[in-house]
Amino acid sequence: MKSEKKIEAGNEVNSRCLKCKDVTNHTIVAIADGKIAKVVCNVCGGRHNYRPDKPQTAAAAKRKTTRAATIASAKSAKIEAQYDDLLTGRDPSKALVYSMTDIFKEDDLLNHPVFGLGIITETVMPNKIEVLFREGSRLLVCGRLCR
Ligand SMILES: [Zn+2]
Repeated sequence: MKSEKKIEAGNEVNSRCLKCKDVTNHTIVAIADGKIAKVVCNVCGGRHNYRPDKPQTAAAAKRKTTRAATIASAKSAKIEAQYDDLLTGRDPSKALVYSMTDIFKEDDLLNHPVFGLGIITETVMPNKIEVLFREGSRLLVCGRLCR
């Protein structure tokens, strides 16, 4: 059985040290919520937050998530800009109420009970319409199209 090293102040752990710019031996000086909080570098004597010697640290994972969120929000900002552009000058009160059996055409303004106002950007034969809503494009079913 593998025994986990107990986290206790005074124990030694490997941590990244910014002064040494390396993973060095550190002594634990503070614990928070059962996790190592502060360590003292045994090489340079510097006291700092514990930086685990692992490729996927919580901080790195968080950075990754934040980056993905930034990309996603940039994408949605682009969709919103396009959406606002398409809706400019439109009268929402004249929007057609969406129904699966009605027939729509490109550029129609649509009012969907769930997604709200949208613009039909494309008609897809034989019975689908691509609609741009504020949150993005959706393919909806409509009455059979004829051209
Ligand atoms: Zn150091």
